[in-house]
Amino acid sequence: MGRAFVYVILGGGVAAGYAALEFARRGGYSRGELCIISEEAVAPYERPALSKGYLLPEGPARLPGFHTCVGANDELLTTKWYKENGIELVLGTKVMAADIRRKTLLTATGETISYKNLIIATGARALKLEEFGISGSDASNICYLRNLDDADKLVNVMRSCSGGNAVVIGGGYIGMECAAALVTNNIKATMVFPENHCMARLFTPQIAEYYENYYTSKGVTFIKGTVLTSFEKDSTRKVTSVILKDGKHLPADMVVVGIGIRANTSLFEGQLLMDQGGIKVNGQMLTSDGSVYAVGDVAAFPIMLFDGVIRRLEHVDSARRTARHAVAAILEPSKPRDIDYLPFFYSRVFTLSWQFYGNNIGEVVHFGDFTTSSPSPRFGAYWVDKSLIKGAFLEGGSREEYEAISNVVRRKVKVANIAELEKQGLMFATQE
Ligand code: FAD
Repeated sequence: MGRAFVYVILGGGVAAGYAALEFARRGGYSRGELCIISEEAVAPYERPALSKGYLLPEGPARLPGFHTCVGANDELLTTKWYKENGIELVLGTKVMAADIRRKTLLTATGETISYKNLIIATGARALKLEEFGISGSDASNICYLRNLDDADKLVNVMRSCSGGNAVVIGGGYIGMECAAALVTNNIKATMVFPENHCMARLFTPQIAEYYENYYTSKGVTFIKGTVLTSFEKDSTRKVTSVILKDGKHLPADMVVVGIGIRANTSLFEGQLLMDQGGIKVNGQMLTSDGSVYAVGDVAAFPIMLFDGVIRRLEHVDSARRTARHAVAAILEPSKPRDIDYLPFFYSRVFTLSWQFYGNNIGEVVHFGDFTTSSPSPRFGAYWVDKSLIKGAFLEGGSREEYEAISNVVRRKVKVANIAELEKQGLMFATQE
């Protein structure tokens, strides 16, 4: 049993949706030549909505409202759109094996799907507590958040815990966004993480302090510098408390775990070159095999702006752009162009909203008003390396201000005097 396509997109997440739109706009395929194979039961959607609009107690976001590509203010690609555009959606179908030499994929239902060109868009999976030697994460009130099923479980568990206690494990953006959602849903949240402050990979201590104070004012408690070791459960195997390394017991009606992700590379290990925990590609998103491309969270690609350093980015904007770039490279082989990507990441919690561009390396120069009581906070930081702006962060900016900070990073604007940069703050970027 088998089907043959010219183009197969493996994975049905953010990158797949944007790749499909790019194919449709460029029109370089005929009806029935292109398919998306996805383990998920629904057409590609904007994954970031799962920790934001989806968790709101009032008027939550629901499909079909957040299918791709609405996150980039573009067309809403419903199942009907794929049909009209001759793109086959092979949903609810997990690929179990890939044979790069034979150009075939084997699905869980035993079907062999062959391709001429493959775009790998398998994204990443949430790390499980078991991988850190902690057992019992199968309890009905322990939640992860990567896909729609996870989000539905989280919503249901939250509904059953109103007025209760939640423990959030992990201080990254999933933990931060979920803690905000929990208190908005009238659940007391305690965040536990081993680092000294939240968002440790990106935030400076000063930036983190602002968000932690803000969260504290909303009723979130922080327990830093420690980890959980085990759970206490009742007779139905529900978690009733979280036990920390120092022996402390935290009462818990539910637990949310956000301890990082792993790229879904396993189908291709030993067949394609790997780097940074992902599949290594060149500037055209082409892997070590001439007919296979990789995009989104799974792809490790050269960042021109960082002098060609290979990075694997776990951010939605990167998924959208790398997907479009791969399709352009496939359909226009005579015009090879290397991707020139400016790394960009954002988050929205409560009424706060920040954006970060570039690389957080070098000396940090903060600017703006960091007082938590400010009704409309606007502050940020530049990262200056070898007298050049390499990264910039801004909370509460306008569209023009975000564009201004992204421009100074993209242009690696020279900083003659750090004290002057500190004095000028945001104006340094807006007046450039
Ligand atoms: P994914 O969107 O994860 O899609 C991968 C797809 O591949 C899935 O459909 C999966 O089921 C499928 N798949 C995997 N293996 C197989 C297989 N063997 N067979 C069939 N199908 C398979 N980024 C930001 O920049 N800002 C944010 O605010 C933000 N918020 C987020 C909030 C949440 C809750 C999550 C989970 C992520 C968030 N991100 C955010 C990250 C962003 O969503 C990802 O970077 C983006 O989804 C990556 O797109 P992708 O297509 O590479 O992978």
